[in-house]
Order: sequence, then structure tokens, then C-alpha cells
Amino acid sequence: MPELPEVETVARDLQRLVAGARIVDATVHWDRTIRHPQPAERFAAEIGDATIRRVDRRAKTVLVHLEDGRVMTVALRMTGALIVAPAGTPPDPYARVVFALDDGRELRYRDVRKFGRIGLWPGGGLRSVGAGRGARSRRVAEGAGPYRIGEVFSGHGPEPLRRSFTVARFAERLARRSAKLKALLLDQSFIAGVGNIYADEALWRARIHPLRTADTLDEREVRRLHRAVRQVLRDGIVNRGSSFSDYVGADGAPGDNAERLAVYRRTGEPCLRCGRRIERIVVGQRSTHFCPRCQPGPVASDTT
Ligand SMILES: [Zn+2]
Repeated sequence: MPELPEVETVARDLQRLVAGARIVDATVHWDRTIRHPQPAERFAAEIGDATIRRVDRRAKTVLVHLEDGRVMTVALRMTGALIVAPAGTPPDPYARVVFALDDGRELRYRDVRKFGRIGLWPGGGLRSVGAGRGARSRRVAEGAGPYRIGEVFSGHGPEPLRRSFTVARFAERLARRSAKLKALLLDQSFIAGVGNIYADEALWRARIHPLRTADTLDEREVRRLHRAVRQVLRDGIVNRGSSFSDYVGADGAPGDNAERLAVYRRTGEPCLRCGRRIERIVVGQRSTHFCPRCQPGPVASDTT
């Protein structure tokens, strides 16, 4: 499932490949992919003739900003991909929505399992949504503007790679929580964009056991985890994301980060730091990988 680095890679690719292009036609092959506006025919009519101004990302969602200020959101979820196909590329049976561009290329939304969702929203005010302020100011910002894009992101936590995501802010958010760290890192209202892969990687890098609770971290551990979260996400972006099944960049090519991961899906293999075998446990129904030596458990007897 695409997480922050994968979605960021797709957004950067699209910025390079389709910023400035005009959408001349949209065809929806699977109506339920369209979240807003409905029905799908209305979405297709409203996006037709729109010009793409720029493409970026919020949380795990690709944002396609249009010249007229509207924003198309693409949540890739499990198997979604946005791929730019050169003119004449054979049709893709898994393309759920196809945007024909004015130069003959197609921007294809491909999604084998069909969990992804696309919305088209009135723009404006997006910057203020979740940009490091409290819930109260977010509500004010959303209520003041005519836009509805805030609905998409109002429940999301801070962006971990933003400058405003400081150690102090992270410490403050952790201090109030008694949840297990693995579950907390996956909670999109706590921190945006981190999923199973990068949560495991960050905890390993910070040498913190995934079952530790947030409020037990000391100052040094908070600092390590803050740095680790940001570093694993940045590395993921540099390596164009982790491809295990369907994820590809907008150029259609898989990323290089999967083979560079330290613990995720490395159960039984030696820890890159100490050589001990990586173990797998299930936390909140999610596979969790860690080194039992580098990441001592919350109870002393667990560490053997
Ligand atoms: Zn180790």
C-alpha cells in the first residue's frame, strides 16, 4: 500500500510529466472510484477541459491542482496507481478512470482492487488545513471558506516532513498518549502519511520496541524516533518508494526502496545492526517486524 514516500514520488513525477497539460476528456470505467462529485458522469463533465497547474501531496493523497483553483484528490489506497501513458499505448484493463490529455497522452488511474477514490473539489484554503494548527483553528478555516476540500483532510495529523513538525511538537503529541507506538504511528490523525512499512522501519532505526506505549518514551527516545521517522520517509522518497506488489511511479516503473528496508518483511533474516534474527508479531492486525535485541520489549522478561 502506497505510503508517504510512494505518494510523494507519484506527485513529483506528475508535476514533471503533466503540469501544464490540459485534460480534454475523462472516461470513468468504474463509477465507485469517483467519490465526488457524483454521479461519475458529472465528475467527467466537470473535469473536462481543465488545465493542470501543479501536482503535490497531502498525507497519502495526490493533489492535482487545476488552473481554475479546483483540486482533484486521488487516494491510491491499496493498489491505486497514476500512470502517464504515451500516445498509442494499448488500453489497460485495470484503468478505472482515463484522462485524455491535449497532446495525445493519457493520465490513467489504474487500480486492481478498486479501493482508491478520486474527488474533485472547489479549491482554496488547503494550505491552512492541518498545516500545524490545532483542531479549533482548522475548523475556523474550514468554516470560513467556500471550499470543501477540508472535508478530505480535516481528520489528518501533521505532515512529518514539514518544518513545523518539530521534536517539541512530536513530544507533546506523544506525551498525551498511552497507545502502543506501532498503532499510533499508523494512526493518520496522529501523524499523516506513515503506514506499515515506514512505521516498522522508523522504530527499528530508533531502537524502540513497537509495543512500547508512547508515554513511556524518554526525551532521548522521542528525539531518536522523530529523526528516524523523517529519515526513513526521506530515504523512501530518494529511492522512489517501496514496491512489493502494485506500486509504481507515474512513469510506470517500480521503486528501489523495498530491497533497502531494514526490517519490513525480513522475518528470520539477520538484523543489519546486530545480526539477531528479525521477528514478526501482529499488532492491531498488522504485521510488525523488529529486532528483539536492538529494540528491547516493554517488559524486561520479553527481551530474554
Ligand atoms: Zn538488531
